[in-house]
Amino acid sequence: MQSSEQATFYIKTKRSFTPVRAYAWILTVLIGIGGQFVPLLGLLVPFIMVALMGTSLFKGKYWCGNFCPHGSFFDNLIGPISRHKNIPAFLRSKPVIAAVFIFFMFNLGRRFIDVYATLGTGAFLERLGLVFATTYLMVLLIGGLLGLAVNERTWCQFCPMGTIQVLFYKLGKAVGLAKNTDEKVTISHPELCHSCGKCARVCPMQLSPYLQLSEDQQQFDDEKCIRCNTCTHNCPAGILQMAKPQEAEDIKEGVSLEGFDRARYYRARIKAITTLHDDIRQFSFELIEPENMPYDPGQFVLVEVEPDIKMYRAYTISGSNRDNSEIRVTIKILPGGYGTNIIFDYYKEGDVLNLKGPMGNELRIDPSGSELMFIANGIGITPFVSSVQSLFEQREIPFQGEVALLYGARYEEDLVFDDYFEKMAAQNDHFNYHKILSRPRTDQYQKGYVTDLLHKLDPSPNTRAYICGTAEMASGIKHILIDKGVTEENIYYESFL
Ligand SMILES: Cc1cc2nc3c(=O)[nH]c(=O)nc-3n(C[C@H](O)[C@H](O)[C@H](O)COP(=O)(O)OP(=O)(O)OC[C@H]3O[C@@H](n4cnc5c(N)ncnc54)[C@H](O)[C@@H]3O)c2cc1C
Ligand code: SF4
Ligand code: SF4
Repeated sequence: MQSSEQATFYIKTKRSFTPVRAYAWILTVLIGIGGQFVPLLGLLVPFIMVALMGTSLFKGKYWCGNFCPHGSFFDNLIGPISRHKNIPAFLRSKPVIAAVFIFFMFNLGRRFIDVYATLGTGAFLERLGLVFATTYLMVLLIGGLLGLAVNERTWCQFCPMGTIQVLFYKLGKAVGLAKNTDEKVTISHPELCHSCGKCARVCPMQLSPYLQLSEDQQQFDDEKCIRCNTCTHNCPAGILQMAKPQEAEDIKEGVSLEGFDRARYYRARIKAITTLHDDIRQFSFELIEPENMPYDPGQFVLVEVEPDIKMYRAYTISGSNRDNSEIRVTIKILPGGYGTNIIFDYYKEGDVLNLKGPMGNELRIDPSGSELMFIANGIGITPFVSSVQSLFEQREIPFQGEVALLYGARYEEDLVFDDYFEKMAAQNDHFNYHKILSRPRTDQYQKGYVTDLLHKLDPSPNTRAYICGTAEMASGIKHILIDKGVTEENIYYESFL
């Protein structure tokens, strides 16, 4: 496995999607620490235990990811300062889970027996509460320390309460209680997955949903999943959601595979690597097997970055030769980015690797209209390189409708493909190229943003507008286009920044 010194596999991300998840940790502190002074607070714990056992019959470890006060403590307070390392395999192993469970139950049982001796006295409830409060405090301390040293959810790998939930979940499944209530991570369709691994990289339990889908390749059945939704919120393709088994089938049936139906794996050789800017390189791939990749401009291809763990990165096809036996992608390195650091550090001309493509529907250009508008900022320009190429260079008769390209960048040198677009504009009356810089170094360029360019133009209501760039830019552009009378159905957007 290749690795880059600058990038880590597991990434920190926001996990508190509800107020309960954001603030339930207060209960942990209240019971664990407050209970040492007011032991009766510990008597809240049995209610928590009953609740977690009850929910697990129907929904597996849902409690851990959504209500658990300790989980909230780990995610919110420990997570931001955790070393965030790989959780060692032995801490997740069955013998460790069983040993911790037996030790915990034995210890708790022993202390209950001590307390039982006081039954009938005024001290009984206080002594019982203290047993629970102290147990709560221990989990807070041990789990917190493990969370700091390894990963915030290390304790959750072998937490006895988690083990109880798995056992109750098995029971719930066996007697059919979980049948209609069990929501699992569900993929709209495996063919839409970019294999980027982000769902695995953000998972607090360090699971890999995209690699372990059920036999019908749609649901993630792992009983350790705490249904926390972190993966569904972070999937860049937006194809993960929580769904019950019977809903999963409907989702699959209802999904459109348009733009993904021709995708297949290719062996390819890196024919050339061209530096376009300090942090941007163009990679030309010569296709070996199959020998060519028919694609529509605006589509993307997956480039393998980790063969051992099946990890790819999506890159828009920014050009090709006429018979598509060679395709190009243009990649901007992301500081600390896992995939781009591998690609920039290790990939060299002559290397053979896997690609998958073509994929994508959002920015596939429909040239049937007479007015097209392409709007990009930064590296979002890539889909429009192949689009301009196909409309004006690769046709017997160049496109006869009007095409406007609005391109924004920061500095002069950030305008990659500027020469190409200038040349195409000079050769084609129907292609209008507008560029703008937010921080020009000279006064040869307009200063501002693509939104400023759009304000000066007058698109017809039938214009088809394709936007690629930051979400902020896209939202501004969308508003202006709608104000200018362009219909919302004719506005297409993709973000990968
Ligand atoms: C359809 C599509 C087309 C694309 N086309 C292009 C293209 O033509 N050119 C191009 O350059 N890119 C393109 N991309 C983006 C590309 O796929 C990658 O996302 C990009 O290259 C970064 O990859 P990476 O592995 O270096 O970054 P990653 O490590 O995957 O990081 C991606 C994101 O993860 C988060 N992250 C990463 N590390 C951390 C951390 N340590 N802590 C917290 N959060 C973190 C950040 O949100 C970061 O922005 C496209 C994406 C899509 C979906
Ligand atoms: S697989 Fe998804 S829902 Fe399950 S624990 Fe991991 S991030 Fe949470
Ligand atoms: S996060 Fe990436 S690997 Fe996981 S399901 Fe989404 S696209 Fe696929």
